[in-house]
Amino acid sequence: MIQTALDIEAIRKDFPILKREVNGKPLVYLDNAATSQTPQQVIDVIVDYYQNYNANIHRGVHSLSQEATDKYELARQKIQRHFNAAKSKEIIFTSGTTHAINLVANGFTSLLEKGDEVLVSAMEHHSNIVPWQMLCERSGAVLKVIPMNNEGELRIDLYREMLTSKTKLVFCNHVSNALGTINPVKEMIAAAHNIGAAVLIDGAQAAPHIKTDLQELDVDFYTASAHKMCGPTGVGILYGKEEWLNTLPPYQGGGEMIEEVTFEKSTYAGLPHKFEAGTPNICGGIAFGAAIDYLNSVGLDLIEKYEHELLEYATEQLLSIEGLKIYGTAKQKTSVISFNIQGIHPYDIGAILDKLGIAVRTGHHCAQPVMDFFSIPGTVRASFSFYNTKDEVDSLVAGVNKARQMLV
Ligand SMILES: *Cc1c(COP(=O)(O)O)cnc(C)c1O
Repeated sequence: MIQTALDIEAIRKDFPILKREVNGKPLVYLDNAATSQTPQQVIDVIVDYYQNYNANIHRGVHSLSQEATDKYELARQKIQRHFNAAKSKEIIFTSGTTHAINLVANGFTSLLEKGDEVLVSAMEHHSNIVPWQMLCERSGAVLKVIPMNNEGELRIDLYREMLTSKTKLVFCNHVSNALGTINPVKEMIAAAHNIGAAVLIDGAQAAPHIKTDLQELDVDFYTASAHKMCGPTGVGILYGKEEWLNTLPPYQGGGEMIEEVTFEKSTYAGLPHKFEAGTPNICGGIAFGAAIDYLNSVGLDLIEKYEHELLEYATEQLLSIEGLKIYGTAKQKTSVISFNIQGIHPYDIGAILDKLGIAVRTGHHCAQPVMDFFSIPGTVRASFSFYNTKDEVDSLVAGVNKARQMLV
């Protein structure tokens, strides 16, 4: 049977936290862009790990270690297949997107020269800005910013003009966490490759919502964080094309990442271990694999379609509120709505919503340059997941209306 729509009530039963109350009201969780909630299927995998086969991996002769190693490597393969990477050794486990970007930025230190240029988009998360600024300080490369328009869409025409023989690297998010914009990354990658530049795409905000085929994108580096994809915190991945991962030097030294160590010199292990020094987040990696299984059992295509319906409904309802302005009105968007009400500080709206059991994020969303672009201190951000409902959108709208009446 072909499933045509999501059974949201059944899905909600998978998430124990959605049953709880906050401040005496049923929880309405609309902060999914910061972190997603965890289904029982993933929680069970975490419990099973610590109850039944907790052991260090890749080194023990004993059975528990073998079992943990097998499950950890199986998770790597699940992630590889999910993103359609060519090889599982191109999937490096990290602590998350931030760690993944720092790994690449560090590796490029010796590959850049003074005067080389690196391009960053105007709508990046701080974790896709600061590591590159640090890289520029170390290498003497110059950071240039790809501008955006008032809708929060990148100016691809200007981007094409910025690409020159000096450009060595481009980094951009697939989806903006502050605005929800889906960037035309395939086109951007092809344009960068035309002039020989490498591209890193920060997929932290895209991976929970969009099915991505890394080989089709032909991207050099891609990142994701498990905790935004129904998995646990403290684990994520760096995808890198094998040639690139072989070119980059190791990021951290330690156990696991070596072939041979003497006091004169050490040689490094092959991929992926070269970039996985120390004991990793073993349980987290296995649970990340379970989260991917869960998302695929629901179906990312159906998730994308349903979340788009929620986005359209919520956008329309919120815009009926007097004085409310939405930041980020790109044609291609995921289910993120950043907004303000004229004359009210976003924090005050967020605090009133919290009293009503509604969780949103307020502030600059780790994207201060985006806030500066719109000349605002921050926004209220409601971000929806496939386990949210239209009723919850109605609660949000009623809550924002109430806040407006209290504060204007
Ligand atoms: C969340 C997020 C990050 C940072 O991810 P961590 O899991 O905190 O390392 C980076 N970029 C974007 C677009 C994000 O949404």
